[in-house]
Amino acid sequence: MDSKHRKRIAMGVRIAHFPAVKTLDDFDFAFPPSLDQRLVQELATSRFVANGENVILFGPPGVGKTHLAIALGRAAVEHGHPVLFVTAASLLGALARAESDGQLHDKLAFFAKPKLLVIAELGYLPLEQRGAHLFFQLVARSYERSSTFVTTNQLVTQWGTVFGDEVLAAAILDRLLHHSHTILIQGDSYRLKQKRKVGLVPKAK
Ligand code: ADP
Ligand code: MG
Repeated sequence: MDSKHRKRIAMGVRIAHFPAVKTLDDFDFAFPPSLDQRLVQELATSRFVANGENVILFGPPGVGKTHLAIALGRAAVEHGHPVLFVTAASLLGALARAESDGQLHDKLAFFAKPKLLVIAELGYLPLEQRGAHLFFQLVARSYERSSTFVTTNQLVTQWGTVFGDEVLAAAILDRLLHHSHTILIQGDSYRLKQKRKVGLVPKAK
């Protein structure tokens, strides 16, 4: 890799604001009992970003959703795409503040601008109606223009609860799922694996 290319990637990674350094190389595919590794490898080509497709990654806590989202986001940076990583909580906080300050239009434009927006941890906190509306506006704006990669602990059937509104949840899902790849990771938390090994946590099942 020449130094110009390396610099460009380093800059892209900085702009993306990944919360940690995670790669596919340090992801242990033998750990999660159920994960479509071929799909993950396909997503690592970043074709989904070039095509403006979305990804929704479902699974319980600790199974590697954020790890994969960072690793695949990084792969997109390496393929030359502008990427931004946010948590759902920080995204909605920023949009709500912008709305209060009369800056919502600019803020929506900011989050819709990257070719790939990664929104992690949707579903841990239920949204108020205002948050659900803001989320809808962002998704509607990005629809068929840029890619959104969502990680969530809630299955689609629970999104009405997450957004506090079945109609809005359906409208959001409709746009996210159209042209999308969905991945489901099932299994135990990787975080607890070490603790389980030394007997601090009982074995699941
Ligand atoms: P989630 O977002 O699903 O709650 P994380 O991606 O934050 O889980 O994973 C929790 C921790 O476990 C992170 O440090 C992550 O790097 C690590 N981890 C999870 N799954 C794997 C795996 N299959 N191989 C290597 N590390 C993993
Ligand atoms: Mg996570």
